[in-house]
Amino acid sequence: MNKPWLKPIFFDTLRADLFPLKTHEEGVVRMYHCGPTLYSCPTIGNWRSFLFSDVLRRTLEWGGWKVFQAMNITDVGHMRESDDSSLKIDPIQEKAKEKGLSPWDIVARYEKQFFSDMDSLNMKKPTHMSKATKHIDDMVSMIRELVDKGYAYESNGNIYFSVKSFKKYGNLSKNLIEKLDLGHRIDINSEKRDARDFALWKTDPKHLMKWDTELGCDGFPGWHIECSAMVNSLFGDKLDIHSGGEDLVFPHHECEIAQSEAFSGKKLAGHWMHCRFLLVDGGKMGKSLGNAYTPSDIYNRGFNGSELRYSLIRGHYRQPLNFSFELLKDSRSALKRLHNFVQDLDDVKEANSHNHDFVQKYKDSFVDFMQKDLDVPQAIAVVMDLVKDSRKKGLDDIAVSAKSFLSEVNEVLGIFVKQDSSDNQKIKEMIEERNKARDDKDWKKADCIRDELLGLGIQIKDSSSGTTWNKIK
Ligand SMILES: [Zn+2]
Repeated sequence: MNKPWLKPIFFDTLRADLFPLKTHEEGVVRMYHCGPTLYSCPTIGNWRSFLFSDVLRRTLEWGGWKVFQAMNITDVGHMRESDDSSLKIDPIQEKAKEKGLSPWDIVARYEKQFFSDMDSLNMKKPTHMSKATKHIDDMVSMIRELVDKGYAYESNGNIYFSVKSFKKYGNLSKNLIEKLDLGHRIDINSEKRDARDFALWKTDPKHLMKWDTELGCDGFPGWHIECSAMVNSLFGDKLDIHSGGEDLVFPHHECEIAQSEAFSGKKLAGHWMHCRFLLVDGGKMGKSLGNAYTPSDIYNRGFNGSELRYSLIRGHYRQPLNFSFELLKDSRSALKRLHNFVQDLDDVKEANSHNHDFVQKYKDSFVDFMQKDLDVPQAIAVVMDLVKDSRKKGLDDIAVSAKSFLSEVNEVLGIFVKQDSSDNQKIKEMIEERNKARDDKDWKKADCIRDELLGLGIQIKDSSSGTTWNKIK
């Protein structure tokens, strides 16, 4: 049996309190985080939430837990309001029409960029990643059963979940049923028995992504049902932590709970964790405001993936984080301080004795802060104190234990990315691939590789004698 040494206490949105992590199987955590909808590149706001789940996973693994981490990729069904709020549109389908491509091509294009950004931000790939469209059968059988059990009904070819049939609806978001329409727009739709009911399955012969199933022809799923179906197919009723950005609490997670718990009669998740918004320059982030930056936008301004990662994880996940280019610059100098320290530790020729006691007290505090609701800002402050105090004391007798502690810090926060010779080989190969794309006049591919390199902190320069590269300082 797996016996983890880390005993985390996390804030649970449903209980609205800190709560010790208790899982279905001892030493094992099954976690699920709502992933991106791929009609464009996820913004740094989305990445704040994905990296929160990465730090959560890394912390648990470091603490001796065996982690199964799942994340979905939404490639169908996520409708959103049109710019004038007059109707619901499918953004993947809209993008496909605009570009003259199929919705599948659109998703494939942004999926490639998504994984490349994941790499440049040093996020571990979740152990399970799956697209919604790979789970159509799971969704159909879940919907079938919800109809059979009386939680869902068919109306005009569409199938809706009846909110009134599920008594706990509103518990997560604390949106009491009578207050629901105050906080969220609810469309008036005469097909529904109740304005709050939400779609599980829709029928539309004009929709580009559609399936013939036992629910009927030309149908496609609603957005919420994909996560319920995926969790059920991967973990059954043994999900320990469900997480996501705070914007998903209502309606998405509220609807997931209703579907899953009506289906199984069991709790969907043991713990609910939500990461707060990312602000930009003290205000909201939005496409129309021109500040909905993607990682490539940041790399194009000369910053690298480590600096962006550090900026996005350095705030407490339950506090809004204010992103700015000043923050990025500050992260750059903090990382430089850390890198210089590691370098100086490496340069200690003869490490005399191993003064574990000195480093141990910093490590104990680091563990305490990470263990109590992932307090990354305080944990980072401890590391910075170690750097400062060690410099005063001298590095000779602490070098060995400090290095070992910092490698644990890196396991948890993933902020030191070492460039070794195999990286140099990879950079060389990427530059060759880019030059070949340029020869073939495939400018899109060439630009994409350039952005990928920027994400790795590599700036390239073309001249008549060839392409050279340097690390961004
Ligand atoms: Zn979800």
